[in-house]
Formats: sequence, structure tokens, C-alpha cells
Amino acid sequence: MNVLVTGGAGYIGSHAVQRLLRDGHTVTSLDNLYRGHAEAMEALRPASGGRLEFVKGDIGDRALLDSVLRSRSVEAVMHFAALAYVGESVQQPLAYYRNNTASALTLIEACAAAGVEKFVFSSTCATYGEPPVMPIPETTEQRPINPYGMSKLHVEHMLFDHAKERAAVGKPFAFAALRYFNVAGSDRTGVLGEHHEPETHLIPVILQAAQGRRESVTVFGTDYPTPDGTCIRDYVHVEDLIDAHVRVLGALRPGDQRTYNLGIGRGYSVKEIIDAVRRVTGKDFKVVYGPRRPGDPPTLFADPSKIRRELGWTAAITDLGDIIGSAWAWFQSHPRGYGV
Ligand code: UDP
Repeated sequence: MNVLVTGGAGYIGSHAVQRLLRDGHTVTSLDNLYRGHAEAMEALRPASGGRLEFVKGDIGDRALLDSVLRSRSVEAVMHFAALAYVGESVQQPLAYYRNNTASALTLIEACAAAGVEKFVFSSTCATYGEPPVMPIPETTEQRPINPYGMSKLHVEHMLFDHAKERAAVGKPFAFAALRYFNVAGSDRTGVLGEHHEPETHLIPVILQAAQGRRESVTVFGTDYPTPDGTCIRDYVHVEDLIDAHVRVLGALRPGDQRTYNLGIGRGYSVKEIIDAVRRVTGKDFKVVYGPRRPGDPPTLFADPSKIRRELGWTAAITDLGDIIGSAWAWFQSHPRGYGV
């Protein structure tokens, strides 16, 4: 299949490109390189069999999209390109609505014009806000508590409404909105890794401390209503996450409108993650206990049973040590990340 991966040079998108290439697909990776890494594309090229084309550009550029979708005969889109920091979304909400919502609209319009009938969307558990039930099933009411979650929820709504309209006129458009929990780890062959600038995610932040690149790790809040007082999250390995995308893409039938949670179905506290990093790396580092980070719900973990039931997907890499170990291996071979 000819697949367009937006955000293909980012952390999750690059893992999607890698997997699609491995599975024999032809991949066009579109990324504006604002936060993505051209080096990730170069790392994938040798094993791509000439089936990878990288296009530097923005999903808000309609003329570019028209040209890429048609010239590459794109049959399916995996849409990852987005800004993805909750805190930043509170500081710059309009940038999030511009990039994540308005540009996604441009992408969906371009897909409609080019006759692309399959669309897999990178959504988020942040669309649920602070849900009253745990674990979280897909039927949970979506009430985001920050612009990031809202910017993604708007895209889900656009996809639903567009799919409904297409079905009504007999030109079915199929999509899946995949609501990620906390994505972690990296490609176990060591080609790809996680490199964010700035880095704010818990596991890479702790790994940087273990490497001595940071003086300390700050635990955001120790007075949450959880067993050890720190926040609990569901960490899913990026390879498993992408495996779910591939399965979903393969299962999409004309007109499908699917939503799935992607998580392992159990949570770990911040303190448990810190202990696990100490164990995996054998390094010690300073931990500082700070106040809560605004907008962080105490506990979030998925009920991933719907995708298991419907598509047989379940996370294969559930051992925290394995998840962290894969990230640590790349950190060690790339001590300063991509390109440095
Ligand atoms: N966290 C922390 N210190 C850090 C970064 C994160 O205590 O330096 C906590 C954060 O409050 C949250 C969890 O770790 O409870 C996961 O945060 P992350 O930013 O990785 O992902 P999020 O859950 O915000 O998507």
C-alpha cells in the first residue's frame, strides 16, 4: 500500500515509517522538521529498499498535500504530525488549534479531494480529561482539560462528521482514532530513538539524569490520592503502539469509524518509574520532590479490551524494565540524541 505518514520524522511517526517499510509498504513521510529529525529518516533509508520518500513540508500546505497525495498515489494516511505538550498548549492554545486542528482539517480536505479512503489518527487519552472511572474505556465521556486534548478531540469530531457524510453519498471514508496513553521506549534494533527538544517526558527526563545530562529529576507532586502519592500512568511501548496502527489499518473496511484506546491496561507511579530506571541503568541520580504540575490528573490507565476483542491486539512488551531498557540502549548509543 502507498501510505502517507505525517510527522514521520518525529518519535512515534518514525517508528511507524520503520514498521510500514518492514511490512513492504511504500511510504511517504511528510514532516516540517520543526520538532522532527531528518536523521531519523536517514537512519531508515538504508533498509528501505527505495520505498521511502521524505518530503519536508507542513500539513497546513494544501498545495503541497494535493501534489504529494496525487503524485505518490497515496491510499492511506497515518496522521501523527502535531504539537504534543500539554503545558505548552496552555501557554499557546492558538498554536495548538492551528497546528493540530486547523492543519488537520486541511489534511482531511486534501484526502477528500484526492480520494484517500483510509485515515489513522493519532489521538490521545488527554481527550478524556479527568475521567471518573478507571481503567478508562472508549465510552468514557471526552471532556479535555487542556487545549492539547481539545485540539485532538476536534479532529475526532471532524473525522466522524466527514465519514458520516461520505457514507451518506456512497463514497465511504474509513478512519480510526487511536487514543494513546503514555508512549515509551524505542525500536529494539537501536535504529530509532526518542529525542524531544525540549524534553519533558518522564522516562527520557530520568534517563538524561542517569546519563548525567541533568542535575536531577523533579517529581511533580507527592500528595496525589495514589498509594505512594505520585501520579500513575499507563506506559505503552512505541513498537506495540505502532503494531496496533498496522493492525487497524489492515482491518479498516470502507466507512469504518473506529476508536481504540492504546495502553497496556495497568499503571505505574512516578516513583515506580524512577526505581525502575535505577534498576535498569544501574545509575543513581538526584531526585527532587516538587509541587504538582498544573493539569496532571492523578491516575490514568487504559481499558484496552476493545482492541483486543475486535482486532486481537494486546501490548507484547509489558515489562517496565524492557520498556525502559529499549530507551536506555538508544540513549547510550546516541548520548546527545539525533545529529549531535
Ligand atoms: N513527571 C514528573 N517529572 C517530570 C516529568 C513528568 O514527575 O520531570 C510526571 C508527570 O507529572 C506525570 C507523569 O510523570 O504524572 C508522566 O508525565 P509525562 O510528561 O511523561 O506524560 P503525560 O502524562 O503528561 O502525557
